[in-house]
Amino acid sequence: METDLNKILSSTSGNDAALNQKSVAGTGMDDEGRKELESQWARVCDRLRKEIGDKAFKTWFGEVEPGESKAGKVRLYAPTRFVRDWVSRHYGDRVLAYWHAVDPEVASVEVNLVPPPAPRRANEIIAMPPVPAAQNYQQPMPRLGPAIGRGGEEIFQGPEARYTFANFVVGKPNEFAYAAARNIAEQDKPLPERNPLYIFGGVGLGKTHLMHAIWHVIRERDPKTRVLYLTAESFVNRFITALRTKNTGQFKELFRNVDVLMVDDVQFICGKEATQDEFFFTFNSLVEQNKQIVLSSEKPPSELQDIEERMRSRLGSGLVADIHSSTYELRLSILQTKAENARVPVPIGVLEFLAHKISTNIRELEGALNRVVAHGQLIGREITVEMAQDVLHDLLRQADRKVTVDEIQQRVAAHYNIKLAEMSSPRRARSVARPRQVAMYLAKQLTTLSLPQIGKRFGNRDHTTVMHAVRKIEELKVSDVSIAEDVELLKRQLQG
Ligand code: ADP
Ligand code: MG
Repeated sequence: METDLNKILSSTSGNDAALNQKSVAGTGMDDEGRKELESQWARVCDRLRKEIGDKAFKTWFGEVEPGESKAGKVRLYAPTRFVRDWVSRHYGDRVLAYWHAVDPEVASVEVNLVPPPAPRRANEIIAMPPVPAAQNYQQPMPRLGPAIGRGGEEIFQGPEARYTFANFVVGKPNEFAYAAARNIAEQDKPLPERNPLYIFGGVGLGKTHLMHAIWHVIRERDPKTRVLYLTAESFVNRFITALRTKNTGQFKELFRNVDVLMVDDVQFICGKEATQDEFFFTFNSLVEQNKQIVLSSEKPPSELQDIEERMRSRLGSGLVADIHSSTYELRLSILQTKAENARVPVPIGVLEFLAHKISTNIRELEGALNRVVAHGQLIGREITVEMAQDVLHDLLRQADRKVTVDEIQQRVAAHYNIKLAEMSSPRRARSVARPRQVAMYLAKQLTTLSLPQIGKRFGNRDHTTVMHAVRKIEELKVSDVSIAEDVELLKRQLQG
């Protein structure tokens, strides 16, 4: 049995080391021992499948592999911690009993996390499932089921086909969010302490993907479960329409019979008071009925602006899981997974180049690979690093242009005609405090530094000071045209 990890390793690197490593779970057992172990495992699986049904079997044992068998002790490998724990806790006894029936010498079965393969940089991957071969790179995202709703709002009747857990590449930055999402998807009943599940992270890092993945699992388990997925924007639009047409009853009806409610990008309801009240109400009534709620947002509850305190605490009252910005390793794994299904081979050097150069988000990364592959395929051009550089020159120029805090401080100080040292001075006079706030705002916008990191660079200020500055400038941009112009101009100069 070849694991997904190996499939990727052998197909992308194609070298001997990868081919020799026939199985991740391989432990130096001889061929015969391995064959015997696998045939025993197959028999155990048969019985398990009969007992727990195809669906549950696929969910829990689909990716579990036999590792080794020694002195009556069998070791299985699970693809994730979550599956490992679940299988041991819920099926441990049965697996042992069945195995014992097949081979009376077996006295214990232990489930471990699949060990990461030694070669390459894939070491941070926990599970790297294949993407269905049917995917190709020219197609726009297929939507399963027509969107209903008027006026361009979308309420999907089914999840996006390719947004499954199997297609989600797991690495350190998203490991927790992935485990949390799976946990919510696979639980029988919502646990109050995990309701709502609130996933947050930057743009294009996989929040929507995880929400749809939850949806897939729930649907597969019980197609009758009523899942309502909508964007916060759609929630707001629908609510406003309902108010305007005096039809709030119908709006409320939409949520009445829902079993699972998913609202994507909830930061969108910030600053919209009446909608927030309605959302709060909907939310509470579903939680009271013990219905699961899943939310996504670009920010943690604590950083949402213009939101009532009761709402903030409600949002953060369940399981809050963040997705960090991607690492090189994760980006490379994602590219490897996606490249595997491209119609033309993409050399590993090109993937490494892309993973290195395009660090903003996964969506852009996917887009870059798609473009390279499309060029290779349609024009029949050989895919090389030079070719990728050529095809992606606009994207890469942007990526190369990294703005630093030093540059921001210099530009802003020059613009407002103040000393550079005022950027870190404790002085609070408006004439220096406002430019400092602008610089902090730009640092947040144009760099990937965190609030505490930015604070440090501005005279060791606290992250709350930076947050305040960011909010202040965002407000002023709306109310004060000259600030808005200053910010735009500086931004353009810095990025130019
Ligand atoms: P978000 O909702 O956070 O803005 P999306 O869920 O829309 O981001 O993800 C953007 C794109 O990147 C999607 O096509 C998604 O499938 C892909 N993507 C993001 N993270 C991963 C991952 N870990 N593995 C595979 N694809 C990913
Ligand atoms: Mg999204």
